[in-house]
Amino acid sequence: MQYYRPNSLEEYFNVIDSQTLYAGGTDLIPRYERGEILPQSIIDLKRLPELQGIQEIQNSLEIGAAVTIEEIKNSELLTSKYQALQESSIDFGSVQIRNRATIGGNICNASPAGDTLSPLYAFDAKLLLTNKNGHRLINIEDFIFGPGKINLEEGELLQKILIPKTKTKSVFYKLGLREAMAISVINFAIVHDKNELTIAVGAVAPTVLKFSGLTGLTIEDIISGIDQTISPIDDIRGTADYRRKVLRNMLAYELSKIID
Ligand SMILES: Cc1cc2nc3c(=O)[nH]c(=O)nc-3n(C[C@H](O)[C@H](O)[C@H](O)COP(=O)(O)OP(=O)(O)OC[C@H]3O[C@@H](n4cnc5c(N)ncnc54)[C@H](O)[C@@H]3O)c2cc1C
Repeated sequence: MQYYRPNSLEEYFNVIDSQTLYAGGTDLIPRYERGEILPQSIIDLKRLPELQGIQEIQNSLEIGAAVTIEEIKNSELLTSKYQALQESSIDFGSVQIRNRATIGGNICNASPAGDTLSPLYAFDAKLLLTNKNGHRLINIEDFIFGPGKINLEEGELLQKILIPKTKTKSVFYKLGLREAMAISVINFAIVHDKNELTIAVGAVAPTVLKFSGLTGLTIEDIISGIDQTISPIDDIRGTADYRRKVLRNMLAYELSKIID
């Protein structure tokens, strides 16, 4: 297997043809070990300066796709304004996983249980996708089609995540089967300011589901609308019925705290 580690996007575009992109490897390496993929060559994105950093620019928060989950956990910028995203990093894997795993890898792996996804949906995140001809900017819900299925064109990579600077209070909830190293049985994020209430729920459908325009509805109506839309499955982590019950109860609890 060939291994490339470019130091700039310019170098990256010279080696990109039909390569497997690799960031932290925490999804790719287990898949390789299980024999699900056999890449001929991989390009390591971690050193690309264009994929680093968390900063506020004009009307957006920008997060480089190679930013690790541990960096998200430790970012003071997120503590003050984007709590739900930061909270999603806290029970994520272990310290070793958080130091390898990237936010870009979490998005591109496109698991409906990916922990950063529900906050990113609820914050109306957009993704900056780049290839040698330029960029395109799309909503996260137009990027993820289903488990492992993403709208990434030939030669493209995810460069940045952009979150509009509009929302104020937010919260993330995750139910795992144990305190650490647990994939979500369900997770959700709530983002609330005085004009807008948005909820995004993970692990209850093939993609994260987003519910917006909820301001003015009662908590009971919100929960009933979500319950009618989701289609959770039975799997080794829990039954569909269990997922529905936990979601209803925890949404009621978190909504009553966040809505004044
Ligand atoms: C023990 C363990 C515990 C875990 N716990 C959790 C958990 O609690 N919560 C959770 O959500 N996940 C968890 N995961 C899954 C995994 O850690 C995350 O999904 C992680 O964010 C993947 O990021 P990565 O950088 O390692 O991705 P990689 O494995 O490097 O890549 C994943 C996929 O994304 C593509 N890719 C990566 N970066 C880019 C980019 N910039 N542009 C285009 N494509 C790209 C790759 O080609 C690949 O298809 C766990 C995994 C393990 C092994």
